[in-house]
Amino acid sequence: MEYHHTVENAYEYPAGRGMTAYLEGLKEGKLVGMECEGCGERMIPPLGFCTKCMSHDVKFVEAPQVGTVLTWTTDPEGLKWVFVCFEGFEGGILHRFVGDGEPRVGMRVRPKFRGRRVGSVLDLLGFEPV
Ligand SMILES: [Zn+2]
Repeated sequence: MEYHHTVENAYEYPAGRGMTAYLEGLKEGKLVGMECEGCGERMIPPLGFCTKCMSHDVKFVEAPQVGTVLTWTTDPEGLKWVFVCFEGFEGGILHRFVGDGEPRVGMRVRPKFRGRRVGSVLDLLGFEPV
């Protein structure tokens, strides 16, 4: 037997330095990553510290506006999801593919933002082909 139950769990948490910088970037229509002042590591999405050398001396920098699809999948509802990497940055962003047809590995894509942005993860609609 299978039981289903919905648990409502309304909560707030502080975004922290890294996510705050990322959200502020989205509000401006930019993708923001971080660069470590200690070892030079660059990462997106940004954190408040460097995972390579553990330094908290990081600055937030704009990532390239064009990235490359590393991999993609389709969910049970038929939505296509892409994992996009950016040259010079470790990590990447998983988001919806909002182009026509299917994405492909190696496809060059750019972020598609909402017109009216408020500093939310929803400001980024997904990635579309260049
Ligand atoms: Zn570092």
